[in-house]
Amino acid sequence: WSLQVSHVMGAIKTQSPLPRTFSRGIQTVTLIPGDGIGPEISTAVMKIFEAAKAPIQWEERNVTAIKGPGGRWMIPPEAKESMNKNKIGLKGPLKTPIAAGHPSMNLLLRKTFDLYANVRPCVSIEGYKTPYTDVDLVTIRENTEGEYSGIEHLIVDGVVQSIKLITEDASRRIAEYAFEYARNNQRTSVTAVHKANIMRMSDGLFLRKCREVAENFKDVKFTEMYLDTVCLNMVQDPSHFDVLVMPNLYGDILSDLCAGLIGGLGVTPSGNIGANGVAIFESVHGTAPDIAGKDLANPTALLLSAVMMLRHMGLHGHAKKIETACFDTIRDEKVLTKDLGGNAKCSEFTADICRRV
Ligand code: NAD
Repeated sequence: WSLQVSHVMGAIKTQSPLPRTFSRGIQTVTLIPGDGIGPEISTAVMKIFEAAKAPIQWEERNVTAIKGPGGRWMIPPEAKESMNKNKIGLKGPLKTPIAAGHPSMNLLLRKTFDLYANVRPCVSIEGYKTPYTDVDLVTIRENTEGEYSGIEHLIVDGVVQSIKLITEDASRRIAEYAFEYARNNQRTSVTAVHKANIMRMSDGLFLRKCREVAENFKDVKFTEMYLDTVCLNMVQDPSHFDVLVMPNLYGDILSDLCAGLIGGLGVTPSGNIGANGVAIFESVHGTAPDIAGKDLANPTALLLSAVMMLRHMGLHGHAKKIETACFDTIRDEKVLTKDLGGNAKCSEFTADICRRV
């Protein structure tokens, strides 16, 4: 597996985590509508952006699995070119066949564009009834290594080994992103989430890099906490947390736990930040095949991901306007989709937001 490790390490160039400066005027964003309810919720977002006069034009690209040279699965070249040109993408859900066929296109996108930071702001929506009303935190998950490096072996019959890979470069890169994010988004603290008491070498390295990076960000408070303590405290009182940074597997699990605190994946936005200035924003729910094509989907998660995208592009005024309209529609409770407790169609919910922007 040393070959695979050197491949992973070689792939990490220390990139500046600083956000790009975007030019003013109309900007082009690659839109990947996705499968199932993807096209319906993408249409909803486009309508709301149009009503809000957001200075965005969309370049639609399909991401279906195709086989490239040597039979390797790849994303279609038109989608790759569009992303490399525009740098910013908005993506609906993509279906993954179970245990056969092509691999997850989400994973392929992550690899293709080295999307190393998964960012999920979890903020309570005023008026939407959940167990907590004061959640306002962001999970930042290292997206490229840890237990998800894909290094697994059969040792002998009945014994398998799965390698958790942690590198200095990837740990420093995600820590720098977390602190820059905190600084750029008026957040005051970063908590490194780890199990360095048990995984002394791997999580120990991750934690050491977080501590080193913290030295360069004296304006941001740094704390460290065991993953199990975070989980306990999170379900007892999430209001104490601000920015949390963690290795891949912990982030996968903890980010869904946090989404549950604000009402679930249907209202949780997400962004994947990559090297070379590429960023893809996406809803984290799936293709919802049971309701696809029936005008029943809730577009909130994709819309709030698009709002996150606007903020990433420096379009704060348009972001605020659209977010406020969406939250007002939810608070008003008159026009809600079924999953939010109402009877409205996706198109009616969308029209209500359009009316408010
Ligand atoms: P799912 O999220 O698609 O559906 C789970 C339940 O939530 C369903 O009842 C569905 O109707 C509901 N739901 C999901 N999103 C909704 C929305 N926006 N509005 C209203 N209801 C919504 O999960 P699943 O059924 O496990 O997965 C279906 C497919 O989606 C699979 O092929 C899976 O691989 C894929 N998937 C993709 C992504 C992604 O692209 N990020 C994430 C998860 C699952």
